[in-house]
Amino acid sequence: MILMGKVRYGLRGRSRGDCVRLWVCEAQGCRASITTIHKEIERMRNEHNHGPVFSKSRFGNPVIEYSGFRYNLHKTSRLPKGLWVCSRVSSGCKAKLVTLLNQIVKAQTEHNHAPVKKRLQ
Ligand SMILES: [Zn+2]
Ligand SMILES: [Zn+2]
Repeated sequence: MILMGKVRYGLRGRSRGDCVRLWVCEAQGCRASITTIHKEIERMRNEHNHGPVFSKSRFGNPVIEYSGFRYNLHKTSRLPKGLWVCSRVSSGCKAKLVTLLNQIVKAQTEHNHAPVKKRLQ
């Protein structure tokens, strides 16, 4: 079992000899998964159909993915309390989240734009 934030991943299928393992989110109907090789995370599919997902941007900054929107940690945040602003804040979006110990305690989710669509590969 892997625990990432509040999300639990269970081992799917039988492990093969080469130490490659597929872990899937234990929430019902959720298709998010993690692939590990030799206990290192090789690949993450972070597309949960529930709750906020804490992850990192490709620049290494903390982000929350939540119901189709992405939020960046505001620089005034003093952990464990966090203020998260919508990634489109520069285009005038005022949506934000407040978290305490990785739980959303306050949410203002009125965006001035549509949810971010995942690019198909
Ligand atoms: Zn999930
Ligand atoms: Zn927004």
